[in-house]
Amino acid sequence: MQDEVSLTVKPEYIKEYEAGYPLIAKESIRDWSKITDECIVNLFDEKKKFIAKGYHGIQNKGYGWILSLDKNEKIDSNYFSKKIKDALLYREDFFKDESTTAFRVFNGEGDGVGGLTIDYFEGYYLVTWYSRGIYELREDTLEALKKSVDYKGIYQKKRFDTKGQYLDDADDFLFGERAAEPLIVKENGVNFAIYLDDGAMVGIFLDQRDVRRTIRDKYANGKTVLNTFSYTGAFSVFAALGGATKTTSVDLAKRSLPKTQEQFSINAINVEKQEIIVEDVFDYFKYAVRKKLSFDVVVLDPPSFARSKKRTFSASKDYVKLLKEAIQITNKGGLILASTNSANFSMMAFSDFVAKAFKELKGKYKVEESFSLPKDFRVNEKFREGDYLKVMFIRKLR
Ligand code: SAH
Repeated sequence: MQDEVSLTVKPEYIKEYEAGYPLIAKESIRDWSKITDECIVNLFDEKKKFIAKGYHGIQNKGYGWILSLDKNEKIDSNYFSKKIKDALLYREDFFKDESTTAFRVFNGEGDGVGGLTIDYFEGYYLVTWYSRGIYELREDTLEALKKSVDYKGIYQKKRFDTKGQYLDDADDFLFGERAAEPLIVKENGVNFAIYLDDGAMVGIFLDQRDVRRTIRDKYANGKTVLNTFSYTGAFSVFAALGGATKTTSVDLAKRSLPKTQEQFSINAINVEKQEIIVEDVFDYFKYAVRKKLSFDVVVLDPPSFARSKKRTFSASKDYVKLLKEAIQITNKGGLILASTNSANFSMMAFSDFVAKAFKELKGKYKVEESFSLPKDFRVNEKFREGDYLKVMFIRKLR
């Protein structure tokens, strides 16, 4: 790691930083050439007035994150302790709730340190580093975490390259005792099998917690449910527990079949009555139309971008097409749960996709409710683009 480096902010960006904007954008700095390695940076205006302190670390979003507006602040384990303690306090109610034992404890810039997340799974902590820059600060961060929480064990994931790709280490385990594989956690009373040391993803996307509960409690009873891009079948499990007559889960990945069976069986749901299909969703839609299949509820939760052998899917380009496919196999009066985690477009643009899809099919709809990130995925008020999740429950009227 290089020593601290002083950088010059271009005049037109100074006000934003002074107001608390947390991302160090590439174009906002005049002299990146001073940097040879990951380091702490001090930002100044052209008259050498201090603006902010941060770290350099290249991520898809930018070239680093602001850590403090105080020039005397030392970025050490005390600094991280303060941030982590504040984050823990904000989530006090989560720690008390015995029906949910998996949630986010630290959400990047929402908790004051961009590029760093910490998730809690039944006594275990999973730290994710989103750049080499934040990884260079790991000693102080981990020391602070160990001092601030009672942990059974601590794991880490490195997502270093600019697309946030996972850097596969042989071992993601760091301290304490190893977790069971799978580790069974609870979400609103529902069991979930988690693998803390099995590649990039652990088996559940915690940001959909409120959406899953809503499907279970309000929309599933007596309904047939198609869950596309189903991954480990989380939405199907909640729908089945909410009284769905049958769920159908579709995902291209072969591993989705045993993973989904596992989630059903640890919740005492009869797997035989559910359908789990390993197939490209777009091929499945064609099949469903041919066979005149239709559903009361259709869940759409695609990745923002995916490339398969046959095709690429990009949420910002292809969501209208996806919605049109779904609308055609949703029963009249039925429901489409449309979700995206793409940060490339706003809720407004997403609503426009829905309007466009229904218009092109001469249909009518009503939005029953919508969701963004849950409380534990704390968003920085000065960085609204961090609130990437957009979910709509759409009633198909015609
Ligand atoms: N909805 C899931 C998360 C989806 S993650 C949940 O709630 O947990 C994205 C999933 O989409 C991955 O499992 C991936 O295998 C799958 N996928 C990507 N492209 C696909 C395609 N064309 N057809 C089917 N599945 C696809």
